[in-house]
Order: sequence, then C-alpha cells, then structure tokens
Amino acid sequence: MKALPPQHVMYEALINRDSTFEGLFFVGVKTTGIFCRPTCPARKPKPENVVYFSKSEEALYAGFRACQRCHPLERTPQTPELIQRLSEMVESSPGKRITDWNLQEMGIDPSTARRQFKRHYGMTFQAYQRARRMGLAFSDLREGESVIGTQLNQGFESASGFWEAFQKVFGVPPSKANGTHCMLVKRIVTPLGPMIAMADDTGIHLLEFIDRKGLETEIKWLQKKTKAVMVPGENDHLKLLTEALEDYFEGKKLTFSLPLITHGTAFEESAWDQLQRIKVGETISYGELAKRLDNPKAVRAVARANGKNCLAIVIPCHRVIGADGSLTGYAGGLWRKQWLIDHEKGNY
Ligand SMILES: [Zn+2]
Repeated sequence: MKALPPQHVMYEALINRDSTFEGLFFVGVKTTGIFCRPTCPARKPKPENVVYFSKSEEALYAGFRACQRCHPLERTPQTPELIQRLSEMVESSPGKRITDWNLQEMGIDPSTARRQFKRHYGMTFQAYQRARRMGLAFSDLREGESVIGTQLNQGFESASGFWEAFQKVFGVPPSKANGTHCMLVKRIVTPLGPMIAMADDTGIHLLEFIDRKGLETEIKWLQKKTKAVMVPGENDHLKLLTEALEDYFEGKKLTFSLPLITHGTAFEESAWDQLQRIKVGETISYGELAKRLDNPKAVRAVARANGKNCLAIVIPCHRVIGADGSLTGYAGGLWRKQWLIDHEKGNY
C-alpha cells in the first residue's frame, strides 16, 4: 500500500498546484463529488471538504467522478476519441451496463475498447463501468454521509444514477425493504482500500474488498441464498466488525471472535472452519490444509473452497499459499495478500 504524505502537506501542495506531487495523490471534493489531480486549475476546496486517495481507482470506488478540467484518470495527455465517447456514455447513465453486444451494435469493436481503456486508464472498459457503478451504489455510505435520503434527493440530478446503480448491484430498491428480511450493507474504509460488509440480525455474511473480482456475482448469489433485501445501514454486528478491523489493522488484536454466517457445502464449511484454526503469522500450503481436513488428496477442492470464502480477513484464506512458497491467487489482489501476511508476521 502506497502511503500518503501528511494531510497538511497535501493540502498545501493542492493550494500551490505543486506539480511535484503529481501522481502521488488524488483529491476528492465532497461537495461536488468530483476528484482531481493536485495541479487542477479549478478553484480549490476548503480543507474539510477534501478526501485524499493514493490511486485514481480508489477515488472511483469511493463514488467520485473524474474532473473534466484536469482529467485525473488520464495517463497520456490526449484522450482518444473512443474513450471520450464511451466515458460520456457511462456518465449519462451510470447505473446501466454497456455490454460488448451493445458496443457491437454501435459499430465499436469491443476488443478495441478494452485495449484502449486498458492502456489509457489501466483497466478494461467493463472494469471501469463496474468501478463507477459500485462507487455510486456506495456513495451514500461515504464517510460523513449516512442518510440515504439526502443522497437520493441531492446527489443525482437527472437520471437518478444512484438508484439505478443500487438496483444494479443489490437487485431491489431500498424502498422495497419494509417488512422483509433485511441484510444491512456497510462500507468500511481500511488501509488497504474500502471494503463492503453485510450482516443481518444473526451475524455477518460477507466481507470483501470493493474492487474484488466477481463481487457483484457473489452478492447476487448471497441474495438468492438468503432471500434478503439489501439496504445500506449498520447493526451491532457491523459495529463490532468495524472495531475489530480497526484493531486488526493497527496491529492491536489480530484475532476475531465475531458471529460469522457461512453458506457452503459440508466440505466448504469444514475447510473454512479449518482456515480459522491457522494461527496468526502462520502460512500453510493447500496440501497441508487438505491434510488437516483428513482428506490429503482434496488439494484442488480445498483451493476451490478457499476461493469461495466471502469473509475476507476474518476467515483468513490469505494464510494459504503455494507449496513452493509463492503467493498463488487472491481475489482481492496479490498485493493485499502479501500485505496481510507481512502485517500478521510482523505483529503477532
Ligand atoms: Zn480537476
């Protein structure tokens, strides 16, 4: 994780449009929902309205949109026309998904769009759309804003992009939540980026990094499984989880005792149970995990069960690595897996 300079230093750089800070941080403006480079020519916000990010993607996931003056997503000075056109299309209806088929209908080659976005923004067109959608769906959960109504009334003028994005991600509009089984959804900011947590009265069902691959599919699957309506909010379980994560990241307490609700097959459940027995600071191989399950041949099934864990960090699937010591996969990104392992080895 790239560390940010102290806040007062960044704010000063911002005021002075100091180009030596270019690329070191990005700045989101809470009052406008826009994020900028430090050198943006636009009028500078008050310090209390500013949020800092180390990467432009983090700003997108936090619900900010790119400034039209300083173009913080651009890596090259000129925006190719195709990217310009597609980004405008996304902004005009941010909750909608533009599929490869839609692109073809418009006479655009999907692989060209993918390539150009990848080169220019460092992510594919689909990943860009997903980041924007998730960002909008979570923007009411942004720090300092808790009331969903405020966001609905103020944040999204014409196309009610928030509403569309929310339904896209969670299936049901928040207003339909009355009298049904509710799953509360909270955004938790961690030093490794924002996470999403879901809990009902019985316990915590999901904890994932917001940019995790396949998160939307996982959420839909969970929704089907629990038949719950998902609404932004908080309960005691989520409060406890937030505190426990704070302690974890500060290195104060690296173990968790939280009510976790899992939805696996008997085999997956036993694998996840075994994961929680791996000690803090210890890493084991998939083969070793299979052995601990008295099923030494089930290495691949164990790896699959690991991948299906939807409770990142608290069910420590990051403590399982390749037999040769390599990190192997992690849906939240290998850099996070490495960070978690180092953090635990350094603090237990
Ligand atoms: Zn700007």
